Amino acid sequence: MDTILVVNAGSSSLKFEVFAVGTALVKLVKGQVEGIGTAPHFTVKNTNGEQVVDRSYTSGDVPDLAAAMHHVGTWLRGQHEGQLVAVGHRVVHGGPDYAHPVRVDQHVLEDLERYVPLAPLHQPNNLAAIRTLLERRPDLPQIACFDTAFHYGHDPVTDHYAIPAHFFAEGVRRYGFHGLSYEYVAGRLRNIAPDIATGRVIVAHLGSGASMCALRDGHSLECTFGFTALDGLPMGTRCGQIDPGVLLYLIDQGSMTSSELQDMLYNESGLKGLSGISNDVRDLLASDDARAALALDHFVHRISLNAGALAAALGGLEAFVFTAGIGENSPIMRERIAKRLSWLGAQLDPARNETGEILVSTADSRIALYVVPTDEELMIAQHTLGMITV
Ligand code: ADP
Repeated sequence: MDTILVVNAGSSSLKFEVFAVGTALVKLVKGQVEGIGTAPHFTVKNTNGEQVVDRSYTSGDVPDLAAAMHHVGTWLRGQHEGQLVAVGHRVVHGGPDYAHPVRVDQHVLEDLERYVPLAPLHQPNNLAAIRTLLERRPDLPQIACFDTAFHYGHDPVTDHYAIPAHFFAEGVRRYGFHGLSYEYVAGRLRNIAPDIATGRVIVAHLGSGASMCALRDGHSLECTFGFTALDGLPMGTRCGQIDPGVLLYLIDQGSMTSSELQDMLYNESGLKGLSGISNDVRDLLASDDARAALALDHFVHRISLNAGALAAALGGLEAFVFTAGIGENSPIMRERIAKRLSWLGAQLDPARNETGEILVSTADSRIALYVVPTDEELMIAQHTLGMITV
C-alpha cells in the first residue's frame, strides 16, 4: 500500500495525516505534536476517532520541530507496512508567483524563503518541515500546497491597497488565505449542487481562523483576508479588519512596540479580546456574561457586513456555504448569521439546520444555504497525488 503524509507545521505544533493511495485517497490516521519546546504532547487518532497514541515528553526530548518530526517519523515507520510515496505540506504563502502546488527542491525552497517576511509567524515553520525532510529523505517528493494559491489571478483592482503604487510591486498587496479550504469546498459543491457551483457563492470558513470568500464558477473573486491573515472577520484571537489609525495611535500614544502590537493583534484580540472570557464560541454561547454576548454579536455583525460586500463583488448571490468548526457544528450561530442574510432572501429551515443537513435552507429560500465540512488535509493529499502521478 502506498501512502501520502500531509504535514501542517506551526510554531509550536506539528499536525499530520496519513492517507492510503488507492482508487480513492483514504484517511488512515490523524495526529499532532503540541507544545513543542514547552510541554510536548503526541497524540494520534485512527479513522474511528479512537486515540491510538497519547504520549507526553519533556521539553528537552522535543525541543524543536525537527525533533517532533523525528518522533512522528519513528512512530509512522513502526505503524504502517505501506510505502510512503510523497509528503504534502501546507505552506501559508506562495507570494505573487505560485498559483499551484509545487514540488520543492533546494532551489524552490530558497525561493519560498522570500515570503518569510510576508508571513513571519507561519512560513518559517512550514519551510523548516520541508527542509528537514529534504535533508533526511532527498529521494522523497515534497509538495508545497499554498493557502494563497486559490486566490491567485484576482483582478488587480481587488488586490491593490490605496497606498503608493510601488508598494504593490514590493509585495504589499492583498493575497487571501484559507485557499485550500475554499478549493476543497468549491470541489464538493460541484458534486453536491452542480448548478449552484457554477454560479455566485459565498463560502464562510468560520473556525478559530475565520474568513469569507466570494466564488464565481468555483473560482475565487474576493476574500476577506488581505496581506496577512489578520484582516477581514474578527477571529478567535485575531482582530480582523481594523482602522490602521488605531495601530498608529497604539504605537505613538500607547508606546507599544511592533512585537507587542503583533502579539495583541494575533493572540489577544478577536472573540477572546472582546469577551475577556474565551476564544471558543462554545464557551461564549454557554456564558451569561454581557461581554460574551457582545463578542458573538460583533462576530455575526461583521460576517453580515462582509456578506453584503462579497455579494456586491459578485453582483448577486445564489448560495451561502458554512464551513469549519463554527460553521459546521453550531446550529445557533448559523441561525443568527442566516437571519442577517434575510435581506438577500435567505430562509433557514430550522429542522434541517438542527440536524446538520448539507442543505439547510427552505425550498422557497431565494438563496440556498449549505453546510459543507471542509478538509484541507485531503485537498493537500489530492494535490500531492496529482503532482507525483503527472
Ligand atoms: P482551526 O482548524 O482553525 O483550529 P476549527 O475549524 O477546528 O479551527 O474551529 C475551531 C473552533 O470551532 C473552536 O474554537 C470553536 O469556537 C468552534 N466550534 C467547534 N465546535 C463548535 C460547536 N459545537 N459550537 C460552536 N462552536 C464550535
